[in-house]
Amino acid sequence: MRRGLAIGNWKMNVDRSSAMVLVNAIVAKIPEINADLVICPPYLYIPEISEKIANTSIICGAQNVAAHSTGAYTGEISAAMLKEFDCKYAIVGHSERRQFYADTNLAVAERFCQAISGGIIPILSTSETLEERENGTAFDVIAEQINTVIDKAGIESFMNAVISYEPLWAIGTGKTATDQQAQDVHYFIRQLIASKSQKVADKIQILYGGSVKPENAQKLLAMPDIDGVLVGGASLNADSFLKIYSSFQK
Ligand code: PEP
Repeated sequence: MRRGLAIGNWKMNVDRSSAMVLVNAIVAKIPEINADLVICPPYLYIPEISEKIANTSIICGAQNVAAHSTGAYTGEISAAMLKEFDCKYAIVGHSERRQFYADTNLAVAERFCQAISGGIIPILSTSETLEERENGTAFDVIAEQINTVIDKAGIESFMNAVISYEPLWAIGTGKTATDQQAQDVHYFIRQLIASKSQKVADKIQILYGGSVKPENAQKLLAMPDIDGVLVGGASLNADSFLKIYSSFQK
């Protein structure tokens, strides 16, 4: 049985004081549930937030991690830097990074490798566009995104990784993939991993992301290959995010 995992990706949405209000509300109201809850604030707020959640069950993550360990890489943050502030997870290859910052499959694979070697659990984000879904290439696109990382990092490294499936057409649009559409892709991802290692496929948590809300979380999480959720918009409200998190309590 894989452990449930809910991740809140705050993106570039909060200022310092609203970040603290949000984390304080989560700390105050988090229910005791047998699943993990991770928040990914903007980098700048990580030190203060990490301190705030130090003695709670809440885990800190980052929205990205550098593809190098150190050096002249202006604007980047390394895995070792994240580790210094108790970050346990880092998203790599979020569709917004792929779309707006030209993160190629290879660049994502390099970020993934750096996370692994720095002791950070990468959340490899995979996605397809609406056009790819409609022209029937979605599964090929996702396979390519994952296979590039497997080729670079090796399948065993996925023992310490998470995969998320976040169709671009469902992110921030209010349009959610149906439970079955999401399950079909999650099943496909697990089979792809199983073709390299059954042990990794059995262990790896595969999360769904794309307009997850309190109203749809429970049905998504009831699907056999959906182990958790990656939440954008609804994670900016403590009550909504915690209702989603409470969906693990079946
Ligand atoms: C995301 O960007 O990771 C995401 C899933 O966003 P939203 O929940 O707002 O669709």
